[in-house]
Order: sequence, then C-alpha cells, then structure tokens
Amino acid sequence: HAKIQGKARQQMFDVTMSADNLARLQLEIDLRRAKEREQLLVYYQPIVNLKTGHLSGFEALMRWKHPHRGAVSPGAFIPLAEETGLIVPMGWWILQEACEQIRLWGEEFPDFALTISVNLSGRQFSQPQLAKEVGKILKATRVNPQRLRLEITETTIMENETIVAQTLQDLKAMDIQLSIDDFGTGYSSLSRLRSFPIDTLKIDRSFVMRMEQEPENLEITRAIIRMADSLGIEVIAEGIEHQEHLQLLRKLRCKYGQGYLFAKPLAAEDAIALLRENPKW
Ligand code: C2E
Ligand code: MG
Ligand code: MG
Ligand code: MG
Repeated sequence: HAKIQGKARQQMFDVTMSADNLARLQLEIDLRRAKEREQLLVYYQPIVNLKTGHLSGFEALMRWKHPHRGAVSPGAFIPLAEETGLIVPMGWWILQEACEQIRLWGEEFPDFALTISVNLSGRQFSQPQLAKEVGKILKATRVNPQRLRLEITETTIMENETIVAQTLQDLKAMDIQLSIDDFGTGYSSLSRLRSFPIDTLKIDRSFVMRMEQEPENLEITRAIIRMADSLGIEVIAEGIEHQEHLQLLRKLRCKYGQGYLFAKPLAAEDAIALLRENPKW
C-alpha cells in the first residue's frame, strides 16, 4: 500500500508546478504579449572611436518594460526568448527599429557617419532566408548596408558552423559589417574564425574589467588586439568603466570602445541629447 500511495503522491507532485516553474511560465506568457503591448524598447549604447574620442555608433540593446516588474534586463528574458523561439520575431523587430532610428539620426547628424550594431541570436540563423530578410529591412528603412553591423557570439558561430558560414557570406556580399561578440569567452581560436568574413571583434568585458588587477588579462587583451590587427580585423573593447581602462586600451591601440565610462545604454531621446552635445572623450 505504501508503494501505491507513494506513487500517487508522486503523480500529484508532478502535476503541481513548483514555484520556480510557475514563475517562469508566467514570465513566458507575459513575454509572448510584450511586443503587441508595446512593452519592448530599444536602448542605445555609444561606441567610441578611441583614437579620435568621438562617437562612432551605437549598439542597440533590448529592454522589456514589464507592467509589474519594471525594467527586466536582457539577462533575464533573452534566454527565455531563445528557448521559446520568441527571439525570432523580437529580433526582426529590433533590427527594424534600430535601422529606422539610425536613418533618422543620419539625416539629423550627417557629420557623424554612425553605425548601428544589432545582436543576432543563434535561433535567427536557423532561418535560411535570414540574409534576404535583412536586405528587405535595409531597403525599407533606406539604410546603407555599410552602416549596419551585426553581432554574433563566437558560441553561435561554433555551434552552427556550416549554416552560419553560408549566411555570413551572404550578409558580407551585401556589404553589411560583421562582428564577433563576447570574444574570448568561447573556445574558438582566431585562426579558426579567420575563415569567416569578420570585420570586427568585441573583446569580452570580463577581460577588460580585470586588466588592471590581473596582468594575465592585460596580456590576453594585448594578444587579441595584436592578432586581430595582423588579420585586418578591427577591435571593440567592451566594459570600459574607468579612465585607467581607457588609457591602457589606447596604449594597446585598440580602435573602438564601449562602456559605462562613456555612457550606459540610453533611451533614444538621451542618445539624441548626446549626439547634440558631441562629446570628446
Ligand atoms: P552584449 O551584446 O555583449 O551587450 C553588451 C552588454 O554589456 C549590455 O548588457 C551592456 O549594457 C553591458 N555593458 C556595456 N558596458 C558595460 C560596462 O562598462 N560595464 C558593465 N558591467 N556592463 C556593460 P545588456 O543590455 O544587459 O545585454 C546583455 C546581453 O543580452 C547582450 O550582451 C546580448 O547578448 C543580449 N541582448 C541584448 N539585446 C539583445 C537583442 O536585441 N537581441 C539578442 N539576440 N540579444 C540581445
Ligand atoms: Mg552585443
Ligand atoms: Mg558583448
Ligand atoms: Mg555579452
């Protein structure tokens, strides 16, 4: 009897959701409605040319303004969006928004020649028509393809090597800039990545933020910049928070940088204010 009772209890437990699962399901339900309810926002973080100290572009970063939870960070909803496939429509949405925005800024501030960086998730790469669809958005928003930079993590590249290789070739043929995101966190080597038509790589902020305290991280950063340079790849350092980081990276001749020292990701109107101000760092 004890055994049967135990089994019955087990089944009861199975149909009853744990609090964690319930919370996750609720978040998923909310996320499914987020786009139509206009709760998704695009924030823009400046990317600075370290040589000139001027703004060179922005990275578009998604934000979710949840009705009860407030601003939910991508760390909490992007993984869920990827698991559920919601990242695909969300990814098209942010690409369209960001392209419209950069066209408008390009008209208002023609002297800047700004680029816009948009993140692509692995899920988006499983769509065979990816390059074609990107082309349609560029055409509809009248954005010069050279102004668009698509960011792909090294993990995404390594997980779907063959599909990604073809899609990257197609995007490159359209004159779009391609960037490897979070470089150094995966296990790929630069020589392996060389077979992909990459224009820039972004050194992960974990290296940049520990450059001062740990000489090893400084050496890794130096090596990445040197190797990228010899391959004709430009480097963007992420996570520049202190003046010391900036000085070190300038010494290493890193071309671009991004981080809280310059600005956090900004709402569109704050990004416009920054463009008007035209700061020099
Ligand atoms: P990411 O593409 O590497 O974006 C850079 C992240 O670093 C952003 O976090 C940014 O706010 C943060 N960051 C920039 N400078 C600093 C700094 O100086 N210090 C620190 N501590 N952090 C800094 P965020 O906006 O929370 O985004 C996290 C990740 O979520 C992104 O990492 C990206 O992988 C993903 N993500 C965001 N928006 C999108 C999107 O539209 N599509 C896709 N597929 N992924 C996105
Ligand atoms: Mg990125
Ligand atoms: Mg990154
Ligand atoms: Mg990252």
